[in-house]
Amino acid sequence: MGSRSTSQTITEPAREIEICQEADVVVVGGGPGGIGSALSAARSGADTVLVERYGHLGGMSTGGLVTIIPNLSDISGEQQITGICQELVDRLDAKGATDYPKKEDRGSADEKLVQHYIDANLAWFYIRDDLNIGRKRVLYTALIDPEIMKCELNNMMEEAGVNLYLHSWGARPIVEGNTVKGVIIENKSGRQAILAKVVIDSTGDGDLLQPAGAECDTRMVSGLRIANFAFPFWIGNVNMKKLEDFRGSQPKKYDELMQDLKSQGGAAFYIKDLVKCHDGIVWFHPFFPSMNQSDIHEINRIELEGRKKMLLSYDFYRKHVPGFENSYIALSSPQLGTQGGQRVIGEYICTAKDMTSDEVFEDTIAIFPDNDNGEISAKHPNVCIPYRALVPKKTDGLLVACRAFSSEYQFNEYFNLIPHCIAFGQAAGTAAALAVEAGVQPRKVNYITLQKRLINQGVKLPVP
Ligand SMILES: Cc1cc2nc3c(=O)[nH]c(=O)nc-3n(C[C@H](O)[C@H](O)[C@H](O)COP(=O)(O)OP(=O)(O)OC[C@H]3O[C@@H](n4cnc5c(N)ncnc54)[C@H](O)[C@@H]3O)c2cc1C
Repeated sequence: MGSRSTSQTITEPAREIEICQEADVVVVGGGPGGIGSALSAARSGADTVLVERYGHLGGMSTGGLVTIIPNLSDISGEQQITGICQELVDRLDAKGATDYPKKEDRGSADEKLVQHYIDANLAWFYIRDDLNIGRKRVLYTALIDPEIMKCELNNMMEEAGVNLYLHSWGARPIVEGNTVKGVIIENKSGRQAILAKVVIDSTGDGDLLQPAGAECDTRMVSGLRIANFAFPFWIGNVNMKKLEDFRGSQPKKYDELMQDLKSQGGAAFYIKDLVKCHDGIVWFHPFFPSMNQSDIHEINRIELEGRKKMLLSYDFYRKHVPGFENSYIALSSPQLGTQGGQRVIGEYICTAKDMTSDEVFEDTIAIFPDNDNGEISAKHPNVCIPYRALVPKKTDGLLVACRAFSSEYQFNEYFNLIPHCIAFGQAAGTAAALAVEAGVQPRKVNYITLQKRLINQGVKLPVP
């Protein structure tokens, strides 16, 4: 290992940078937040650029092998998250690249049906506990094929007229006073500037926020889901019938094997892929606690530890677990799994209290099912998100549409997932286009017009 950072610094020389593009809206980061942002800004008529550091779009949902879009319905089975997220599922469906519980089954507490969905993927994706009735119910979650999704996302961007800069890092915001005026990108062509009327930070980690002068909440608590990296990987050519027969006929032996694997530091939990063309693939999502998922030393540590854990686990399964004899490591996550980090301090901060308030804000831009929070979910099955949670308190020309939205960690833990971030993006992109159209800063956008436009786009909102 080389030596770590010292307290010494150097001064980077100033230099002239080519302005490679001027746009209405530039979105940095092409994950769930960036997808929603870029599509909705471009479809709303804004000249839109999307900057992504890798060669594909989708962020964690494709490159991170997090191929589960959960909680599209609340526990009663009623769909709440619609808009671009549903459009994406529909496009994947047309290509046989998704799986989800049948519409007529959603909300059902029928024991046989519930068991059918539990058995289907050996996990809980399609069901949740309803504490009000003391039983499990089927809900709407979609599993997706990440490779088809990468292709469909490119098609959607092309159709919407989004100008893509792939393989390009958003290096720094361009700031005048307290207003963001664009972004400096870095790629194989060097360093270039893109000027824009509105910049949307969809980097997940909120890379542009602090350099833009936006205040951030960096608090994190160990033990939370969001205080973990993950190193997802897939094992292919598993004989599922043999594996399931073994688990069913020798549960004690299976548990002993998993205990043994765990004690050796391996990944003792896997999930069966359900997308039709993924027969014989099982997923692993081992977690690695970390309090700072933007720290390069932490990132390096997990890339190294993750690969060790993957190999150890694979060797174990192949040697000891029936069904894995002829398996192989099909894929390790091209993007390291990051789950949480700093959040912007916005005009409104979503807190744990919002999960129990049932408040419909005058600037509500999304309604999310709350299915994962025990007694709280039972009493409050949905939460509303105000537009102000996407607007930095102190910085103009900037919106935040990713898991760095304005929220305390207690709230972020439950509502920073893929469908949520797509919804933030859909609102932020629409708002950015509105701001450009009206010649105002994003914080001055008319909420009622924004809500009307979102409803016209098929977003479900609890407002007229
Ligand atoms: C193991 C694991 C399991 C999870 N389980 C689920 C689940 O079951 N369902 C679910 O919905 N969610 C799940 N999540 C959470 C979910 O994946 C994320 O919360 C969600 O993807 C966040 O979306 P985002 O757009 O904020 O960020 P990301 O998905 O991280 O996307 C950010 C994008 O920005 C790009 N980027 C970052 N910095 C820059 C930069 N400076 N310049 C240019 N591009 C940049 C990245 O390459 C990436 O494409 C899980 C996450 C992990 C890791």
